Amino acid sequence: VGSRPRTTARRALGELELIAAIEAALEDRSGRLVRWTGDDAAVVRAAPFAVTSIDTMVEGSHFRLSTHSPADVGWKALAGALSDLAAMGAEPGEAYVSIVLPAGFEGALELVEAMETLAADCSATIAGGDVVSGPALVVTVAVTGWAESEDELVGRDGARPGDLIAVSGVLGGSEAGRRLLERGEREPAELVARHLRPRPRLREGRALARAGASAMIDLSDGVATDARHVAERSGVELRIELGLLPLAAGVTPEEAAVGGDDYELLVTLPPERRASAEAAVPLTWIGTAAEGSGLVLLGPQGPVEGLTGYEHA
Ligand SMILES: [Mg+2]
Repeated sequence: VGSRPRTTARRALGELELIAAIEAALEDRSGRLVRWTGDDAAVVRAAPFAVTSIDTMVEGSHFRLSTHSPADVGWKALAGALSDLAAMGAEPGEAYVSIVLPAGFEGALELVEAMETLAADCSATIAGGDVVSGPALVVTVAVTGWAESEDELVGRDGARPGDLIAVSGVLGGSEAGRRLLERGEREPAELVARHLRPRPRLREGRALARAGASAMIDLSDGVATDARHVAERSGVELRIELGLLPLAAGVTPEEAAVGGDDYELLVTLPPERRASAEAAVPLTWIGTAAEGSGLVLLGPQGPVEGLTGYEHA
């Protein structure tokens, strides 16, 4: 947003006009910015620990313009990036946005305005970025969060045998919403909204970190895949009962285990932290960590094989 366009493009707003309109739509709510849009680079007053994550969404791979409005795309791109800060227990700070605009796409300002609405909801600031022309709509969002001390942050590697496993919210709703959209349906609206307008659980992530979470991850690829990451990084076995998963309306436990894009948090906690965690964040307890390795998903008849969430190529 702060840089000059690299190419010219034929669209309703000229490139310079578009950048000016984007800059005018953004608000500084960071309290850390010394310089931002309109300069060569953003300058931020840092806290001792910077927590940085970057996400890219590509038209055709991560969304379709037939089912996602430009505003949905902007919202989702920022939500996915902020969700990673939530999973660390970080305080949200600044977002930097790079957008590749295909010829004829006129929703750039709408896209950024929806992003700005979510940023305001999350106390984040879109502090800079770039707009270029290219063959497909691509949105990359880098986010920086902050912490005063390393101990405030939670990784994937801290789960220990005996820890309890919990999740926030309900699961499977986003995938159910995606399937509705693919069929041209928009009801139940709640499921469609779960897919198009996910809410990063930033407050919940910070509260769970303070409550003594031993490990945490955001559910972007589905419990069946994301819980496995925690098990592998922590060197423990996670045992999760499918029958305990909190389900979005009309979703089966198996669908909830493999559905991606929910952006809820999965957290492990020592048993003595259960009460304080529950007091801070509504949670559903779904299993325990044990000596061993990997993820075991338990059905009524014992372990269920072959359930996997979204696996990155
Ligand atoms: Mg993540």
